[in-house]
Amino acid sequence: MTASTLPPPAQETRGLLLELGIDAAAAQDGDLPVRSPITGETIARVRSADRAAATQAIAEADAAFRIWRDTPAPRRGELVRLFAAELRDAKQTLARLITLEAGKVVSESLGEVQEMIDICDFAVGLSRQLHGLTIASERPGHRMMESWHPLGVVGVITAFNFPAAVWAWNAALALVCGDALVWKPSEKTPLTALATQALLMRAAARFQHAPDGLSQLIIGGRDAAAPLVEDHRVRLVSATGSTAMGRAVAPQLAQRFARALLELGGNNAAIVCPSASLPLAARAIAFAAMGTAGQRCTTLRRLFVHEDIYAPLLETLRAAYASAPVGDPRAPGTLIGPLIDRAAHDAMQAALAEARSEHAVVTGGERLFAEDHPDACYVRPALVELARQSEIARRETFAPILYAIPYREFDEAIRQHNDVAHGLSSSIFTNDLREAELFLSARGSDCGIANVNIGPSGAEIGGAFGGEKDSGGGREAGSDCWRAYMRRATNTINFSSDLPLAQGVAFDLFGKGAAP
Ligand code: NAD
Repeated sequence: MTASTLPPPAQETRGLLLELGIDAAAAQDGDLPVRSPITGETIARVRSADRAAATQAIAEADAAFRIWRDTPAPRRGELVRLFAAELRDAKQTLARLITLEAGKVVSESLGEVQEMIDICDFAVGLSRQLHGLTIASERPGHRMMESWHPLGVVGVITAFNFPAAVWAWNAALALVCGDALVWKPSEKTPLTALATQALLMRAAARFQHAPDGLSQLIIGGRDAAAPLVEDHRVRLVSATGSTAMGRAVAPQLAQRFARALLELGGNNAAIVCPSASLPLAARAIAFAAMGTAGQRCTTLRRLFVHEDIYAPLLETLRAAYASAPVGDPRAPGTLIGPLIDRAAHDAMQAALAEARSEHAVVTGGERLFAEDHPDACYVRPALVELARQSEIARRETFAPILYAIPYREFDEAIRQHNDVAHGLSSSIFTNDLREAELFLSARGSDCGIANVNIGPSGAEIGGAFGGEKDSGGGREAGSDCWRAYMRRATNTINFSSDLPLAQGVAFDLFGKGAAP
């Protein structure tokens, strides 16, 4: 690893917090240690919220909501526009903090902040387009329409691997929709959350008309999220994380009839067909499978390759896996940073051991730089060649492992592609129109995202993001996802002097003209 000239993460973090307007001293005396995966060292100690503080945060957000819902939506958009301006100014600094806290390479962290800016820009436009339908009424002299109203307090629970962008997908839309926010970020990335919240508060100060308490932060582990899940004032909980988290949270929300927007795990696959451009497929596969050290929900984890092209494609991939630059994510040239922590490393090694017990051929997967960095977990990404899709390939292991499996019949490849619990993202590489269209059809990929000739990761904010089955069913970001953050009222207006009932029902108690 050629990163010895880079400052220790703890030292660099202090400088960044200062630049972002956070009292670095206040981030040193808390009960929750924050570690940088770059070295494993503690870079801050933040204070976690107890139940009383979390409940107070919800109460303040609820009070703010009652003011914010009366602010016209285009005015609400102005706050989001100012927030995007703060993000533009702080882009480098915030991205650097994401790299220090989540271990992403700098280019990907910059991409994450850009994604926040993009969703803000989208939301600003949307603030003038929160439109409903007008609907033909069957009754003369009547009109029907839909109105969309602010929903209430929106709770946002986020994962470590997108420590700011996922919150921004929710927050930018929720704010223009007239909602208040309570955010419970991952306990592994609270500093990015503190910095993001500080930038929003700067925007609010410039805006001048945002009610106090409009955006709240609850720092802590999973217990800190409990009030969000339980409190009836939180009308929507948007929760991003593992399927296990979704399984715990969803029944509690259902119990109190709150809305749930669940963005959970993925076990994403690609099919490479005989007509595919192999150089293009190899580049796409390399980024989708190894980028972010395999720690994206949309990471490519399973690869079905037609047997006619299996040998040349796998030869290219084996070489790529052996040479991909792993190291300090701040160092120029690094493409793969560390795993988030020891648990992620252990889960990866357990999966590889299981694959080896099934006689898989494994390239890579070993731990790197352990002598220099005993508390950090760098790994060479692993390419695992399986004769058939086995149980280990059917599970999500949140690490850079790609299972390559040969196929002969296209229908069989699609069947295996869909034969997993998750249904988040998917790709096909082909220049055969029939294969591409079949993959996108009702008989094809069963995922929320299905791509042609690009990998399954790296979505743009314009489209709806989310997946089916154990991936949770939620949709966030573009398209019409804003509707999740509002409540719909159907209005029927009678502008006649009569009172015809729908479906021709008669209920003439008074007789025409006899009523008082
Ligand atoms: P995680 O489930 O461990 O934690 C995610 C968040 O949920 C954290 O804030 C955590 O404190 C909280 N949490 C965990 N259990 C909870 C519970 N029982 N009640 C309330 N809150 C709880 O996930 P992680 O390790 O941070 O992230 C990795 C996982 O997230 C992977 O499975 C990945 O696929 C998934 N993910 C999904 C998306 C998506 O958009 N679909 C995006 C990013 C990550």
